[in-house]
Amino acid sequence: MLTLDGSEGEGGGQILRTALSLALVTGQRVRVEQIRKKRSKPGLRRQHLTAVEAATAISGARVEGAALGSLALTFMPGPVRAGTYEFAIGTAGSTTLVLQTILPALLTADGPSHVVLRGGTHNPLAPSFDFLAHAFAPALAHMGARVELELAQAGFFPAGGGEVHAAIAPGKLQPVELLQRGDHLGFVARAQVAQLPRTVAERELAVVRDAGIPGPGKFVLDECARATGPGNALSIALRFAGITEVVSALGERGVRAEDVAQAAVDHAFTYLHHDAPVGEYLADQLLLPMALAGGGAFRTVLASSHTRTNAAVIERLLPVAIELRPDGLATLITVRRRS
Ligand code: AMP
Repeated sequence: MLTLDGSEGEGGGQILRTALSLALVTGQRVRVEQIRKKRSKPGLRRQHLTAVEAATAISGARVEGAALGSLALTFMPGPVRAGTYEFAIGTAGSTTLVLQTILPALLTADGPSHVVLRGGTHNPLAPSFDFLAHAFAPALAHMGARVELELAQAGFFPAGGGEVHAAIAPGKLQPVELLQRGDHLGFVARAQVAQLPRTVAERELAVVRDAGIPGPGKFVLDECARATGPGNALSIALRFAGITEVVSALGERGVRAEDVAQAAVDHAFTYLHHDAPVGEYLADQLLLPMALAGGGAFRTVLASSHTRTNAAVIERLLPVAIELRPDGLATLITVRRRS
């Protein structure tokens, strides 16, 4: 039994999710203590508990400590079974983070899977559906993974009520190198509103239009007519050959639409003023698939505390060495099999 300290480094939910993902793939039993110790409300919240339930359902695991607020969890997986699964978080908790927990295991399973997840699809401090579909999944596709994602219903924090469908075809992940951006292909700005005036989305797109982001630009206004509200998200997909970065901002009560849009535009320019292909968030999320591929390398705009912590957790669970080295303004991250 491998024991991990969930208070180390970033001290958030990712330590738990990475532990679950790799326990599923390797069959290793894991115990995580001090779960999410550095968060304001430590322990398992609905989203984390749903990730544990999902990991349990696909592997017939035995689990101890799977309860709301629990600070320690023991997870003893069985063999992973491909199949059709549905998981409902029950709050606006992030569906994308639950999906990322079980995705590596379903990619290495014995057949195709179809997963339906209900909860939040556009949350603070988590990948938005747009990020998952247009940044994360294409990066995985470079490694040979076949994952199709569909937003059946948007679910904006804190209202929730979203639904994501994922079709996952198993296959061996291949090592890749993501060192440069290819040709600049332009951007797609998408403003979504649910139970809010259409003008909120129009004002956000106007800010993006005037911001001078290098084009060609495409503008999409999505009135999510059936979604629970109020909700609003603006995402900008910055497209380069070989890599797409998705930056976003969420509407909040009391924050003007122009300020929401400006936050996303500022994130866009932070990425555009850099030359590394992999953004801050994609960096920590690519480590696990690269480690499963047995190798790879990428340059990122920022090696965050999530990235450093995730690298350390992965090194404990898989026979890989993950090296982070400054490379100009970027950080070069190399994943190698340990002999
Ligand atoms: P944790 O805080 O440990 O639960 O982990 C949060 C996860 O969400 C990390 O993998 C982050 O990279 C990811 N994340 C947070 N904010 C964003 C964002 N704006 N876009 C994409 N991913 C994000």
